[in-house]
Amino acid sequence: MEKEIWVFAEHRDEEIEEATLEVLSEARRLANKSKLKVSALILGHAAEPFVETLSRHGADNIYYVEHELLEQYTTDGYTMAMVELLRNRQPESLFLAATSLGKDLAPRVATRLNVGLVSDCRVLGSNKEGNLEMTRPTKGGKIYSKMKSPSRKPQLATITPGVLGVDKPRNRGRANTEKLEVEIKPEELRTRVLGTSKVDRRELDISEAEFVLAFGRGLGDESRIPQMEALADVMGACIAGSRVAVDEGWISFERQIGQTGKTITPKLILCCGISGAQQFTMGIRESRFITAINTDREAPIFKIADLPVLGDLNEIVPQLTEQLQKSLANR
Ligand SMILES: Cc1cc2nc3c(=O)[nH]c(=O)nc-3n(C[C@H](O)[C@H](O)[C@H](O)COP(=O)(O)OP(=O)(O)OC[C@H]3O[C@@H](n4cnc5c(N)ncnc54)[C@H](O)[C@@H]3O)c2cc1C
Repeated sequence: MEKEIWVFAEHRDEEIEEATLEVLSEARRLANKSKLKVSALILGHAAEPFVETLSRHGADNIYYVEHELLEQYTTDGYTMAMVELLRNRQPESLFLAATSLGKDLAPRVATRLNVGLVSDCRVLGSNKEGNLEMTRPTKGGKIYSKMKSPSRKPQLATITPGVLGVDKPRNRGRANTEKLEVEIKPEELRTRVLGTSKVDRRELDISEAEFVLAFGRGLGDESRIPQMEALADVMGACIAGSRVAVDEGWISFERQIGQTGKTITPKLILCCGISGAQQFTMGIRESRFITAINTDREAPIFKIADLPVLGDLNEIVPQLTEQLQKSLANR
């Protein structure tokens, strides 16, 4: 049997999630070095709408399970299906994106199979023995640790979205598709999805947002929140902030970035009136593009900002909002 790396393929609205394509790109790089095959796994949907994308991004095989109890994600259903498939097919490893779904599913699967899991990896490699080496940040991102779990297979890893990027799609030929079967006992599903609704961008989990507008003490007082919301609207951004913003009651705790808040990796973050204390910056360090508005030339946030903007947010934010509104209107 060919040795395989499996990638769990998350999909929404008939499209593969970008976070999955990042995982697939990394799996492909690793497979090329280790001469393994890459297999994408789709649960609860036919393969056909995704075959071209998955093939062009590196999948050699696409496995799919069509089962009405997998059409919506439930922790129990997906865990049962995944565990059965991994036991039957015994891939070398399974990679998932560290999305809220991936973070929910991976630890349960690892526990059921009694195998190791390294979460929030940044790089995946392999050593001479062909064992996986997983690199992830520790000590609040100050150092990177290389980890192994060689004694049991499959080796599980989740990869932080937004860090590695997606490799360019290639014409690699069509991946082989294979329908797999699993047994799911409805009485063992402890949750039932009664319906779904689209989440308002403002309600989105900040660790899944592509664009983030964060503010801190420099906001001054809550009367300025509407001004920030107006900018967030034109940016298509999710609102977040420093611990001070939470302590002041301007945002809820789940929107806090940093050591005691969340680590985020958006494509762009705009930090307004945030000094850049280490406990804050450890949560944004791996964002793709960091920009910050601050009145203090010496503010530590400027040391990590790709685009530092020296000035008063009360002047800059309304102007920026207006400019963005104009350019959107002219599109
Ligand atoms: C154990 C521990 C854990 C912590 N965890 C976290 C955490 O998870 N997240 C977190 O954020 N903090 C955390 N902190 C707190 C952290 O140390 C800082 O106190 C906090 O991040 C500061 O928030 P701030 O940048 O909003 O405020 P400040 O440090 O007060 O900075 C305000 C900034 O706004 C600028 N400013 C003022 N007016 C304007 C204006 N009009 N226009 C533009 N700029 C302006 C100022 O120049 C200043 O740089 C933690 C601390 C400890 C000890």
